[in-house]
Amino acid sequence: MDLKAYVLKKHPGLLRYANSDKMVLKRLKRAIKYSYKSRFYARKLKDAGVVPDRIKTLSDFNEMVPPTTREELVEAGPYDTLAVRPGEKCMIYSQTSGTTGGHVPLWVTRDEIERSVGMAVSLPVFQDMMSPKDVVALCYPYTRTLAGRMADMINQKRGVTIIPMGTRNNMYPPEEVVDTLLRLKPTILGSVATDAFSYANILMDRGIDPTSLGIRLIVSGAEPLSSSRAKVLGKLYGCRALSLLGQNEVGVAIPCRNNVLHLPSFAMYTEVYREDGTKADPGEKGHSIVTPTWREAQPILRYVTGDVIALHDDPCPCGLPLPSMEIFGRKRTLIRINGRDIYPIELEDILYRSHINGPWYRITVRSEGLHIEIEHRGKAAELNEGIRRNFQKELGVPSTVDIVEPGTLYDYREVRPGKALSRVVDEISGKGEIIEGA
Ligand SMILES: [Zn+2]
Repeated sequence: MDLKAYVLKKHPGLLRYANSDKMVLKRLKRAIKYSYKSRFYARKLKDAGVVPDRIKTLSDFNEMVPPTTREELVEAGPYDTLAVRPGEKCMIYSQTSGTTGGHVPLWVTRDEIERSVGMAVSLPVFQDMMSPKDVVALCYPYTRTLAGRMADMINQKRGVTIIPMGTRNNMYPPEEVVDTLLRLKPTILGSVATDAFSYANILMDRGIDPTSLGIRLIVSGAEPLSSSRAKVLGKLYGCRALSLLGQNEVGVAIPCRNNVLHLPSFAMYTEVYREDGTKADPGEKGHSIVTPTWREAQPILRYVTGDVIALHDDPCPCGLPLPSMEIFGRKRTLIRINGRDIYPIELEDILYRSHINGPWYRITVRSEGLHIEIEHRGKAAELNEGIRRNFQKELGVPSTVDIVEPGTLYDYREVRPGKALSRVVDEISGKGEIIEGA
């Protein structure tokens, strides 16, 4: 077992030392020196006049090392950012969805992915909430991203039984996934939340209550999932639902049993800035710049993620001494309602204070208020009233609510398209459809 993984598993308190400024700086300087192995960074750091030995503090690092943008990585192409060449080590390629213009190439070596898996398995969430007795249905994508592959490896290492199905593929279209869930009776479902809602609706079409399946944990990934929607999803299956989220380019945050996203700060350094470029306080929303410090195939320094996050350093009740984070969305997804800045995920969080069982919703932001369409089966009048009341209370704006049959906004029986679809339409700013997720 890797030393870090061992420490994480047996002595998590030591992470406080690993997160001291001195240790973080040491890791960052090592990451800079290593990044010279890539043609892209050798050029970029030379042009910026970076001298690693002149970096004495974290502020020096923040000020002297230039940020790296998504556009730069797309432009560099699939090979220039590599520190390891094909042939030197076994490597695996993946890329971002390209929703925001061009695919960012992402590489890992086999050793690096195995190390990450070792770390992940050592985390309490996988230690406490999974056992070799579990049967895990994996409906994450197996191609383009490393989600399915990583989940497979984590599950293999944990010794559980795996049903690899993937998502958005013709081998396991949603109906086939549901047939398989019914036949094999898994105890854990790894799935994008929207797909999990879709499977529940296919079950309900067949007159089967999803709680009868016996699933006790759902781990959602690859799309933003507000905490109230996670709770509703859990209620639908009669289980706990957690959200695992991150950015392909820099790594993922891992939820604890309280569904709080913890940052693996021993492998990643996160800076958060306000709009004016000053540093955000803990708990304050800002733009994140992230340096993964543990890369082998493809070093990345000070990556401008484009995400708006809040970093919290107060202790989580779960006891894990790692900072936690909330991800709100991208700057371009920001909406202004009644003089208040709000992200789609926050609208979703208000919406799902009501129990909604359909897979899809759409919120249209208009000057006269919100128009909300939701897919739901069951009693509508009370739900309608509750949703309007929650939005009025939270945002001070009126809303109209249309409750429609599941399948009206999006056909959950079909294989979902490769590109993300929109749930929020902003008519006030003229942005139109706001695309989030994968
Ligand atoms: Zn926690």
